[in-house]
Amino acid sequence: MKFEIDKKKLNETKKLINIFLRKGNTEKIKSITEKFGLKYNINFDIEIVSSELKYIFNYLSGGFGNADIKCIDEFLNGSRFGKAIKHFSGRAIYDKKIVKKVMVGLSYLENSNSDFVPILKNLCSNLITKLENRKSIILIGVSRDEEIMPFDRLLAHEIFHLVLFDNKIVFEKINKKYSYLDEGLAIFLSYVWSGNVKKILEIKNNFDRKAAIFWYKKLLLVQSGKEIDKIKEIYMQYNDK
Ligand SMILES: [Zn+2]
Repeated sequence: MKFEIDKKKLNETKKLINIFLRKGNTEKIKSITEKFGLKYNINFDIEIVSSELKYIFNYLSGGFGNADIKCIDEFLNGSRFGKAIKHFSGRAIYDKKIVKKVMVGLSYLENSNSDFVPILKNLCSNLITKLENRKSIILIGVSRDEEIMPFDRLLAHEIFHLVLFDNKIVFEKINKKYSYLDEGLAIFLSYVWSGNVKKILEIKNNFDRKAAIFWYKKLLLVQSGKEIDKIKEIYMQYNDK
């Protein structure tokens, strides 16, 4: 299995990201953020890796439930991993703890002959340096199988995750089982950003659609600028559950 990203794909992805950033999209995200009553005070870098590496990162950080280091080979040969690496994906990283967890996993694999260990170790120390310099990260996983297409909404989605974290709206911190509310809110905001929020109703992925519709219903009739109050009210409700 290959863990390095294909050079050509890396360059194509970089180009698309540059176009996204040049088009004034971060400014647009900032204005939606402020319109909702949230603060926009983030600073981020985008790291591009192979899909394989990104999903190993996700696995070791506990993104697939309990990451048992002894089961890593099973995970790499399993259908979940096989399906996941076929698609382009993103992950917002704002906390050193997430990266440290991956590093602990890697330290157990130090003497194994897994090819990804040195590459992932390198990535992790890179990420730690950035996080220590108060930069958040958007990790982009590029698939070997998929053609590179503009992925603007995905970028907006990940940036909104960072904004929400920075505004201390992290349902996952109340309980891991509420992480769908974080996901739903980032999806909802990315559809507001794209200018067609009703398209949420057409999202094919069941989990994503339900999570986004939750917020769509809650925020639809809220007066502009008061969204943050509603979000905080819901946050408190879940916090007290
Ligand atoms: Zn997300």
